[in-house]
Amino acid sequence: MNILLLGSGGREDALAWGLRQSPSCGDLLAAPGNPGIARWAECLALDPSDPDKVVAVARERNIGLVVIGPEAPLVAGVADACRAAGIPVFGPSAAAAMLEGSKGFTKDLCAAEGIPTARFVRLADTESALEALGDFGLPVVIKADGLAAGKGVTVALTRAEAEEAVVALCGAPLVIEEFLDGEEASLFALVDGEEAVVLASAQDHKRVGHGDTGPNTGGMGAYSPAPVLTPELERRAMDEIVLPTARAMVRAGTPFSGLLYAGLMLTAEGPKLIEYNVRFGDPECEAIVPRLKGDLAAVLLSVAEGRLGQVRPELSEQHSMTVVLCAAGYPGTPRKGGLVDGIEAAERVPGVTVFHAGTARHGSGALLSAGGRVLAVTALGETLAEARARAYQGVDAIEFADGFYRRDIGWRELERTA
Ligand code: ATP
Repeated sequence: MNILLLGSGGREDALAWGLRQSPSCGDLLAAPGNPGIARWAECLALDPSDPDKVVAVARERNIGLVVIGPEAPLVAGVADACRAAGIPVFGPSAAAAMLEGSKGFTKDLCAAEGIPTARFVRLADTESALEALGDFGLPVVIKADGLAAGKGVTVALTRAEAEEAVVALCGAPLVIEEFLDGEEASLFALVDGEEAVVLASAQDHKRVGHGDTGPNTGGMGAYSPAPVLTPELERRAMDEIVLPTARAMVRAGTPFSGLLYAGLMLTAEGPKLIEYNVRFGDPECEAIVPRLKGDLAAVLLSVAEGRLGQVRPELSEQHSMTVVLCAAGYPGTPRKGGLVDGIEAAERVPGVTVFHAGTARHGSGALLSAGGRVLAVTALGETLAEARARAYQGVDAIEFADGFYRRDIGWRELERTA
C-alpha cells in the first residue's frame, strides 16, 4: 500500500519513521515533508491544505492511505475530499475537527453529555463577558473561542488581569471557565465512530523555561507513558469523556475518525477535559510512535476503513522521553539559518532517534535551522530515568550553537519516582 503523509514537522517525521518500518507500507510520499522526513519518504512540493491537489496526487500515485498530521488540512476539509474520492484517510472530517476548532462547540457538547469539564460560559461581546466574570472565583480562565495556536488562553490570577484578557479579545467570541486544580496529562485515543481505544498517555511541557515558567510554546518535550494517569484514571477518562464524545459525534451525524487527543486535568474529583485536539500532539507523537510495536500503517488504515476492532495498537512497556531543541528567540522570533550537526552521533546512543522539526538542507548539504522548534530527540529506556539519561546524552551529542532546550523534561514524574 502506498501512503501519502501530509505535514512537515517533528510529528510528521516520527510518523514517517514509523510508517517506513511498517511491513504494509509500500511507497511513502510526504507533502511537503522536511529534510528528516526525506530520509524515509519522497517529498513532494504540494500544499497539504489544498483538497483538490491532494486528491489528484493520491490518484496519480495510487495512494492507498492518506495520513494527515497537522490540523490545518483537517480544517480545510482534506479528509472530506479524500473520503469523497474513495481514498482511505486517517484524520477526521472538517465537521468533526470542530472538537478542536471551537472550544465553545466542545464545551456545549460536554454540557449536553454530562462530560466532566470546567464550569463555563460562552460569550459573544465584551460587556457581557466582563459582567460574567463576577460569577467566577479566582483564578479564572479566559479563552478565545477559535483556533489560536495555544496563544488564546489566559489563566488570570486577579480580577484586573481577567478584565484585561477579556478586553484584549476585542469582542471576539470567548469562553470563561472555572480554574481546575490538578496535574495535566494527555490521553491519545484512536476513534472510529462509536468505537475508541487507548493508544497511549503522555505528558508534555508547554512552558519555555525550566520548572514550567515563561511563555507557552508548541511544546518543549514530552514523555510516555504518563504514570500519573493510572489505569483506573485512564479507564474513567475513556468511559466518562472519550466514549461519550464519540457517541455524541455519531448521533450528531458527524462521526469522528482518527486520533482524538484529550488534554486532561487530573482533579481531586477525577479526570476533567481541558481541551481536545483532533490529531497527534507535537512533541507527544515523537514520544509515542517509537513505543509502538507492529505495523503502524495497518493500525492507521484500520481506523481509516472503519474496522478499528480488527487491528489493535500494541505498545511496548518501555518508557520514552522526547527533548525538543529550539532556536534562540523561540517562542518569539527564532533565529534561522544556524548550523545543526551531530545527529548521527546522537543516534549512536542506544535507544535514541532524532526527528527533524524545523530544519532545511542548504545547497552545500549542510543542515540549517529553519523554525522555532528544530529537532526532537527521543530515547527509549526500561525506566523513565533511563530514557531521560539517554535523551540528554543524545542532545549533548548535537552541535547547534543557536539552540537551547529544557533540561528538566519529565521532572514531575522523576521527582515522584525518585
Ligand atoms: P494548546 O492547544 O496549545 O494546548 P489551547 O489554546 O488550545 O492550547 P487549552 O489547552 O484550552 O488552550 O489551554 C491551554 C493551557 O491553559 C492548558 O494546557 C492548561 O495548562 C491551562 N488551562 C486551560 N484551561 C484551564 C482550566 N480550566 N483550569 C486550569 N488551567 C487551564
